[in-house]
Amino acid sequence: MSDKATQSCLGREPFLANQVQGKRVILHACCAPDATVPLLLWQHLADELVVYFYNPNIHPDEEYLRRLADMRLVAAERKVHLIEGKYLRDDDSAARGDLFHNEAEVIHASSFLTSSLAPLEELPPEVHTGLEGGDAAQVMHKLSPLGNEPEGGARCELCYQLRLVRTAAMARRLGFDAFATTLTISPHKSADTVNAIGERAATRLGVDYIWTNFKKREGFKKSIEESRRLHLYRQHYCGCLWSQREQT
Ligand code: SF4
Repeated sequence: MSDKATQSCLGREPFLANQVQGKRVILHACCAPDATVPLLLWQHLADELVVYFYNPNIHPDEEYLRRLADMRLVAAERKVHLIEGKYLRDDDSAARGDLFHNEAEVIHASSFLTSSLAPLEELPPEVHTGLEGGDAAQVMHKLSPLGNEPEGGARCELCYQLRLVRTAAMARRLGFDAFATTLTISPHKSADTVNAIGERAATRLGVDYIWTNFKKREGFKKSIEESRRLHLYRQHYCGCLWSQREQT
């Protein structure tokens, strides 16, 4: 798929600075290597930048934890706050200890919250729906009917949507201005598709979406260099069970 809409929106740039400057932004991160360059670009541009690692589609658990460990490392190196998104059911993550944090507890304890959260009941129903469920088993269940789709097709579009709707709901819940995703740095992902899905999620949740194409200005090449510098693990498959099978 061509990236015509993104091209006409962004020109030669990976993003528009005025959409980030002075804003409180949540950046959905799909993995630590892909987050390196967006964080370098935005950490001093945004008024507040919080990383949201929400990828319950990653299979198996060990792979998830490996990617999460590197995400923690990069967030600490860049000195940005990290919200560790949902992976297990709440009661399972409580039972398994501190490897799997309870998302709600992490948010309530977060120092980036400058004021107390608005009561959830004051937010529109879309925000409630967007924050419901969303653990690995539920996401797998939703993606399963599309399991045979090739990578980049309908299965991936639904996968982007599940992650971006929740990120938009999180931005609205926390009172942030806007959200974006690192997904557009991947050469395997159409920025047009990701941005269209992000924009629809933003409209639904009443928060701004920042269009990006982090591949531009050699973004992907720089992410490889940064990953080497930080000794990050670079995975060989996108994340879900089906993408793992496609690699073997
Ligand atoms: S290949 Fe990647 S984007 Fe597509 S469904 Fe699997 S994890 Fe999601």
